[in-house]
Amino acid sequence: MRILVTGAAGFLGSHLSRYLLAKGHKVVGIDNFITGNVENIGDLLKNQAFEFVKYDVTNYLHVAGKLDAVLHFASPASPIDYLKFPIPTLKVGALGTHKALGLAKDKKAIFMIASTSEVYGDPLINPQHEAYWGNVNPIGPRGVYDEAKRFAEALTMAYHRYHKMPVRLLRIFNTYGPNMRLEDGRAVPNFMTQALKGKPITVYGDGKQTRSLCYVSDLIDGIYRLLMSKENDPVNIGNPHEISLLELAEAVKRLTGSKSKIVFKPLPQDDPKVRRPDITRAKKLLKWEPKVNLEEGLKKTIAYFRSKVK
Ligand code: NAD
Ligand code: UDP
Repeated sequence: MRILVTGAAGFLGSHLSRYLLAKGHKVVGIDNFITGNVENIGDLLKNQAFEFVKYDVTNYLHVAGKLDAVLHFASPASPIDYLKFPIPTLKVGALGTHKALGLAKDKKAIFMIASTSEVYGDPLINPQHEAYWGNVNPIGPRGVYDEAKRFAEALTMAYHRYHKMPVRLLRIFNTYGPNMRLEDGRAVPNFMTQALKGKPITVYGDGKQTRSLCYVSDLIDGIYRLLMSKENDPVNIGNPHEISLLELAEAVKRLTGSKSKIVFKPLPQDDPKVRRPDITRAKKLLKWEPKVNLEEGLKKTIAYFRSKVK
């Protein structure tokens, strides 16, 4: 297949592009580097099967030649990134999704949207299954991301229903691993950078809020299975092992052998109190479940951060 990946220089886009190339596909990567890093794709640029275009996908999108799939991964994804870039975040979720869908329709390609557990907002049920409509504050600081992704899902389903296009709605839960930016601001890169530099590890709120962390190789395997399936309805992909943020900070401190203190900082507005994926659908439809446990995944990620922290 010849596959377009938007956001190819980002954390997930770079892993996904590498995986698709390893499976023998051709990949066209697009990124404007707003939150991406060219180092993530340095090795891929030498690969004949990888074409890269620096471009903002909120503009009219044209790719010459056939495309079998369009995977729309471009979007700031870390809360501090989307607070810094609120309007580009809304635009890439809304206008970028529209352009990517239009291109996929023109090419008769499968369209995949990288959606998120944030469509469930600060959820009133735990775990979250795909039929849950969520609890999102549209005008809060996270609304720029959450509502853009909800709009992207709505637009994707409209193209599916109206134009009969094959679509994949991938709801990604917190994923971590190598290629995350040190200054990305999400909990895993923050805790690792702080622990390795011997700086205070910043837990927001009382640290009792929970997340469920998926190691990147498991996520990519799930994405590929969803792409190759015939499933047009949303599918959660994530690791259901739920821990508190304080437990995560303690695990990073222990596994890095750091002497850093754990300090408490104010909880950001609308920060979800709990998050855990119900992966019943992924298990049944894709025969997928995560394999890498938290300790193993954190160790692999720490090795990467150790190589980057100066
Ligand atoms: P990231 O910030 O590392 O990567 C996003 C990439 O998109 C960056 O390289 C950025 O430069 C690019 N980009 C943004 N706007 C663009 C535009 N207008 N034109 C071209 N490129 C643009 O984030 P990530 O963690 O790799 O997330 C990738 C996707 O997965 C996002 O859509 C995100 O919403 C989704 N997602 C990620 C997670 C996670 O845990 N990592 C969870 C849920 C959803
Ligand atoms: N968090 C934290 N310290 C940090 C960064 C994040 O305690 O230095 C908390 C954040 O408030 C949230 C959780 O970690 O409760 C996960 O945040 P992240 O930014 O990784 O992703 P989110 O799931 O909120 O999108």
